Amino acid sequence: MFLTGAADVAMCVAVFVLGMAVGSFLNVVIYRLPRDGMSIVRPLRSFCPNCLVPIAWYDNIPILSWLLLRGRCRSCHKPIHFRYPLVELICALLALSLYSIYGISFRLFFLYYFTICLVAIAFIDLDLMVIPDQLNLPTMFLGLLLSIISPDVQLSGFLLWDKWSLMGWPPYLISLFGSIMGGLLGFFALFFLSWIYLKWRKRKGMGDGDPLLLATIGVFLGWRAIFPVIMIATILALAVIVFLIFSGRIPQARKGEGSLTPIPFGPFLSLAAILWLFYGEAVTNWYYNFMGLAS
Ligand SMILES: [Zn+2]
Repeated sequence: MFLTGAADVAMCVAVFVLGMAVGSFLNVVIYRLPRDGMSIVRPLRSFCPNCLVPIAWYDNIPILSWLLLRGRCRSCHKPIHFRYPLVELICALLALSLYSIYGISFRLFFLYYFTICLVAIAFIDLDLMVIPDQLNLPTMFLGLLLSIISPDVQLSGFLLWDKWSLMGWPPYLISLFGSIMGGLLGFFALFFLSWIYLKWRKRKGMGDGDPLLLATIGVFLGWRAIFPVIMIATILALAVIVFLIFSGRIPQARKGEGSLTPIPFGPFLSLAAILWLFYGEAVTNWYYNFMGLAS
């Protein structure tokens, strides 16, 4: 009893530490990937973005080094942004949460890849207002692969699943269908919304990468997740915009004009998708019970 308990704790610690290491690598991806001419693997050592001095291994331990150095570079003493340890912490917590739900499985590795790509996309979009296809498109492909390798009822919904299983459809096909529908619905929903905005306001309201990002989210979470994810992302974005306006960080829009300060939508889509991944099933079940529908 004690032994299995201790082994569980050791495993959770290992997953957390691995997650931090992944986060440390993700910081490099976030910084280097969208900057032309910078390779992810070269130079091998990380460097301070301010003084360009390479960072020694003992100053590059996830979270811990940042705390010990009190958020400053050892050589130039310029502050190191708190989001470096934040990304490491997010990646560690995602690893631990997914591990506690799925154990060591295909689903764990694919979903972990999906969530850390969302984290990278969110921060890159926040910095540079772009969503790199090199991150998004391979992730979308992995989502389709996962729906075949590890079929999931959530992707197409219980009703379709039951009906089509009875008709003799193999699980992977029903799951793949839900995944593809999620991708198409995600893409066209945002594509359509941004088209309406363009016609109405005569300017672009959304980046080109956003519909493709929601397509990837749909491939992983299924078509039923698309509208909840759009709704959650919109509510989060509005909350942040209201906060930014009231704290005076962006100018208030004049009457009859939308704010001209561009706010990337990718981070909100990513956050909404991660929330839906963890809580979507519970919310869906609650909703079905609330409406008196058995799920
Ligand atoms: Zn420095």
